[in-house]
Amino acid sequence: MRKKTDLTGKKYGKLTILKEGVNPVGSQKRFLQCVCDCGNIANVQMSHLTTGHTKSCGKCPLNSYYDRDGYMVGVTTKGEEFFFDKEDLYIVRKYNWFINDKGYPSTKVGYKHLVLHRLLLGKLDRKHIDHANLVKSDNRRKNLRFCEPIQNCMNRPKRKNASSIYKGVHWDKYLGKWRARITYKQSTIGLGSYALEEEAALAYNKAASFYFEEFANLNVIESKPLNLDYQHKLKVVSLV
Ligand SMILES: [Zn+2]
Repeated sequence: MRKKTDLTGKKYGKLTILKEGVNPVGSQKRFLQCVCDCGNIANVQMSHLTTGHTKSCGKCPLNSYYDRDGYMVGVTTKGEEFFFDKEDLYIVRKYNWFINDKGYPSTKVGYKHLVLHRLLLGKLDRKHIDHANLVKSDNRRKNLRFCEPIQNCMNRPKRKNASSIYKGVHWDKYLGKWRARITYKQSTIGLGSYALEEEAALAYNKAASFYFEEFANLNVIESKPLNLDYQHKLKVVSLV
């Protein structure tokens, strides 16, 4: 048999040859064990190196990470940031993250997509994972919690292009008043109409705290409403 030329130390792309590699079962081709610039070890077919077909381990981490006041910031190749706890760096850095079209840090594992919050919390029955502060890129554990699918919907941010700045409030142009309503278990419950937008927002808050408890996404109301008849309304809706 022809003696193999020693290629140790030769570099192809990001790959530096360490030693003879392991032939996959049934293959007669020569394989070489290489170290990638990223630190990964790869077993690569020699012809793939010499022809330039394979230039890296193919799993180089493309995200960069830095510490920001005690938690980690990951930066995607597009420069988008996502956040997680320092303790999770060891697992997060095993994957290459991008921000998916829904705004969640996501990675590809084989043909499947894996979102970061699912990697960190795993699966629990058919429960959803909720981002408490509504920031989808914030995957610090204190921001993640399991919830029933219905609770996940409660914590939805206010709809865009709504007539009111408040969630659960809209302007009724026929009535000339602000209406409050809440959706619970797929049915919409009217919470009354109000002259002041803030009153309607407060009515929503009351109902949301009642139905959704800690999962409620409450309106932040700056000025104080005048007529506090929302308590009466709440009693009515709570019988539904
Ligand atoms: Zn690599």
